[in-house]
Amino acid sequence: VKRRTGRQRDKGDRGMMRSTLFLLCLTFTATVSAAPEHTPRPGGIAIVDVGTVKLPKPNVSYDSRPALVVQKQDRWNAVIGIPLDTQPGEISLLVNGIEMDVAVTDHAYAEQRLTVKNQSYVTPDQAQLDRIGRERKIIDGALNSFREVPVDGISLAPPVDGTRSSSFGLRRFFNDPPRSPHKGMDIAASSGTPIKAPREGVVTATGDYFFNGNTVIVDHGQGYVTMYCHMSEIAVEEGQTVATGETLGAVGATGRVTGPHLHFGTYLNGTAVDPAVVLTTPESPR
Ligand code: ZN
Repeated sequence: VKRRTGRQRDKGDRGMMRSTLFLLCLTFTATVSAAPEHTPRPGGIAIVDVGTVKLPKPNVSYDSRPALVVQKQDRWNAVIGIPLDTQPGEISLLVNGIEMDVAVTDHAYAEQRLTVKNQSYVTPDQAQLDRIGRERKIIDGALNSFREVPVDGISLAPPVDGTRSSSFGLRRFFNDPPRSPHKGMDIAASSGTPIKAPREGVVTATGDYFFNGNTVIVDHGQGYVTMYCHMSEIAVEEGQTVATGETLGAVGATGRVTGPHLHFGTYLNGTAVDPAVVLTTPESPR
């Protein structure tokens, strides 16, 4: 049985080498990694050529949700977030109403068992459940926002310097009952470390939420959204426009956590994707 590999390197190897050399010259001492790649696995991203830029930007949707389309040289590229619970096989996009199939490969994520001392985080009471429900609506609204503005790429600068302490997709068991998989990247950093916007955007939600603690959600356009949790403080307001590198707040230990860190989430078409796929300088191997 022949398996498809998770990466496709069918074009532009020489061009990529040239741009890598160019980058190496520019950033002599910095860690350099390539631009985000087609990563067609659950929790990854599909980058799909959807035509020439001589034609208007096509309307692309996946699972009835509008999808991000960026310009890459003279081509339009759709960038689709693939849900973590997708079965290996084919997914179908709609490009100007025409179906287009993308092969999705398998991927095994790790498991972790955690003990949380505050039992209310494991089995919330009714008042807490009501609060969680109200906050879920706000968070889901912000994660699913879609602003029709040009987006000039998908790579993100790391929001804080620090070591990644657990990876996206990890299946976690809090005091035994299974919970939904971890939908972000945890970056270890001390309390008070500034968190910087990895790309320009608009702040769509801020709040102190039951599980996520102090949280900021930023909309980067066309359904590309990032989320920052467990902050010690929030430095921005809802509706505010932020530039790349602008401080959003600081690392903390608010909400359901075992210590200070940044929980960093990245979303496309309302779907959590692995931040390691879009970060320009991964801190540790995938
Ligand atoms: Zn986390």
